[in-house]
Amino acid sequence: KPHLVLRDVHRHYGQGDKVIRVLEAANLTVQSGELVALVAPSGAGKSTLLHLSGLLESPQGGEIEIIGIPTSKLGDRGRTQLRRSTVGYVYQFHHLLPEFTALENVSMPQLIAGVSPADADKRSMELLDLLGVGPRASHRPAELSGGEQQRIAIARAAANHPKVILADEPTGNLDPETSDIVFGALANLIKNEGAAALIATHNHDLARRADRVVTLKGGLVVDHIL
Ligand code: ADP
Ligand code: ADP
Repeated sequence: KPHLVLRDVHRHYGQGDKVIRVLEAANLTVQSGELVALVAPSGAGKSTLLHLSGLLESPQGGEIEIIGIPTSKLGDRGRTQLRRSTVGYVYQFHHLLPEFTALENVSMPQLIAGVSPADADKRSMELLDLLGVGPRASHRPAELSGGEQQRIAIARAAANHPKVILADEPTGNLDPETSDIVFGALANLIKNEGAAALIATHNHDLARRADRVVTLKGGLVVDHIL
């Protein structure tokens, strides 16, 4: 099932002779349980593609569908609602709340969404276990290694059962060995949860482990052979 579809998406910035055409007719489909790596040089439009996919930005043309729902005619509220109920986001830096434990950080978005504290903690514990950081549940971010922090951030992004998981350089901050562990944990989670994942990374070794690798060329999303 396609969870994320971009159809002839057009996005430019600026105007006149200062216009920057980032996406001209970008097409991309990411299926449930599929992990697509996005590899492209700085400035090519990776963040733009992720922001569009996460409904943070709107394209000037084309259509973006999340779980089959076309978004071009949604208003700001509709887009925000759809984003909150379907998209999970992993940043390069974890953005965990320092005064809360790992478990609390993962439970927080669930509590905000109205899940009971008991159910939230149960779900959080399952995710932390799945990602190999269960034993760290009661630690605060400052007491955790970079790789552990990032796996907690991944658990938090997955907490509300997102259909689409977007990640901007999720291992950009980690050494190669830790990157490998974190990427493996993320891939495992995607399969387990049946989410569609689009992961921007500079790391070719990690990108090779994705189901598919794409890049951006001339405003298009094209398959990339590493
Ligand atoms: P990447 O994430 O691959 O580094 P970006 O998506 O951030 O690329 O940017 C793609 C191009 O669009 C760059 O040339 C960038 O300067 C430009 N750009 C991105 N966002 C804006 C914006 N809000 N206003 C003007 N130009 C932008
Ligand atoms: P960092 O500085 O650690 O890379 P930022 O806080 O600057 O992280 O966030 C990276 C980008 O991801 C921001 O531009 C933010 O707007 C964007 N972002 C946050 N949530 C989402 C989402 N759900 N979908 C798409 N982009 C998102």
